[in-house]
Amino acid sequence: MQYYDKLIFELSKKGRTGYSLPVNKFPPAPELPVELRRETPPDLPEVSEPDVVRHYTNLSQMNFGVDTGFYPLGSCTMKYNPKINEEIAALPGFNGLHPLMHAGLVKGALKVYQELGRALSAITGMEAFTFDPCAGAHGELTGLMIMRQYHLNRGDTARTKVIVPDSAHGTNPASAAVCGLEVVEVKSLADGRIDVEALKPLLDETVAGIMMTNPNTLGLFETRIKEIAKLVHGVGGLLYYDGANMNPLMGMVRPGDMGFDIMHLNLHKTFSTPHGGGGPGAGPVGVAKQLVDCLPDLRVSGFHGNFGILLRAYAYLLMLGRQNLKEVGQYSVLSANYIKESLKDVYKLPIEGVCKHEFVFDGLIDDGGHDGVPGATTLDVAKRLLDYGFHAPTIYFPLLFHQALMIEPTETESKETLDAFIDVMHQIAAEAAEDPSILREAPHRTPIRRPDETAAARNPVLKFKDA
Ligand SMILES: *Cc1c(COP(=O)(O)O)cnc(C)c1O
Repeated sequence: MQYYDKLIFELSKKGRTGYSLPVNKFPPAPELPVELRRETPPDLPEVSEPDVVRHYTNLSQMNFGVDTGFYPLGSCTMKYNPKINEEIAALPGFNGLHPLMHAGLVKGALKVYQELGRALSAITGMEAFTFDPCAGAHGELTGLMIMRQYHLNRGDTARTKVIVPDSAHGTNPASAAVCGLEVVEVKSLADGRIDVEALKPLLDETVAGIMMTNPNTLGLFETRIKEIAKLVHGVGGLLYYDGANMNPLMGMVRPGDMGFDIMHLNLHKTFSTPHGGGGPGAGPVGVAKQLVDCLPDLRVSGFHGNFGILLRAYAYLLMLGRQNLKEVGQYSVLSANYIKESLKDVYKLPIEGVCKHEFVFDGLIDDGGHDGVPGATTLDVAKRLLDYGFHAPTIYFPLLFHQALMIEPTETESKETLDAFIDVMHQIAAEAAEDPSILREAPHRTPIRRPDETAAARNPVLKFKDA
């Protein structure tokens, strides 16, 4: 352990301070009522200003972000967050707003909502958007509540089921369940697309709708989407579009034209706003014309969502303009196919063909296992990547393959970065074939190695513990 890996409490030295104030220059502090006073002074670390700065700077560098390296996290679109977005969000006229200000004083902010809504409608083919939801999953729940309300408004109370493909993101069935709807799974075919023949018998007047993402989580375009839309509409159901995979389609194809009625966008994915750490995000929900009356009049979040995030997305759109927006998708598709074709000699590619912005490998072709020596798994490959300074791809999702390794490079990476990643992935495959234990014990160079990820998420230790 290095000296500054110590926690700030361990660096504390009695009587040391990080400030000095002029003596006797301040009036006496007002007396606190006795019952509010603590009996013992708080046990705070006593450290100098440089110690504090080093403590937090070192902690910040133990994290991996899109500003520190390549982050090919499939399904999550971890693209670069342009810094001009931050400058615009920091403008005092925006930054100083209070959500309870009189509408007459926040006309600029209202205009941002209006113009962003108009731009998103143009991109998606939806009629109108609500900006309340704070994440994709929150948008799904909002969208399903809209779906249910639409049916109830027509006196149609029998629609209790939502159809979800087996390739869906876990939030889809979870949101449906939270909304009180029954989830019915539809299988995929060997080519990774929905089995339309398996869908047909599921469709009847108890179906509220179907949730789909297109391209799906394998990065494959659902080529029979128009037919699916016709079938679902034919029994009175609606189509919900999970917009997390909108990146390759912007300016090219619109969910509204594919037949979708309700959708969310993840602004923290497709529209370059900061992502991760649990938020703040933005999952605006758009609806087709016949559903505008069902947009929520009661808010699903405080104060119309995360305004600062919406503003960043608006800045991103204005910066790109119509033509460059199209190129976002084209370059993201090019990057994904370039990596896929460059690595399929050593990683199993279960579905051949051109993908959209992401694709899935099913582990190593040669995992190095032999004569009772276990081979390297997808988890081991992911951990080894950290040693080489790249973030791991999404692993073990979608659930269709046992060793899924889901790579999404995005359009913001240079060819040199993609080549460096391809080299490292080849090197890791060679290591696995030669001696899989190198991978099984990875990472070797990170501050911590293999934490219990479930425990870390479920029972995080957030306070200093004196050893
Ligand atoms: C990320 C993602 C979601 C959930 O979005 P959050 O903003 O993380 O709540 C839903 N579906 C797909 C396909 C996703 O990739």
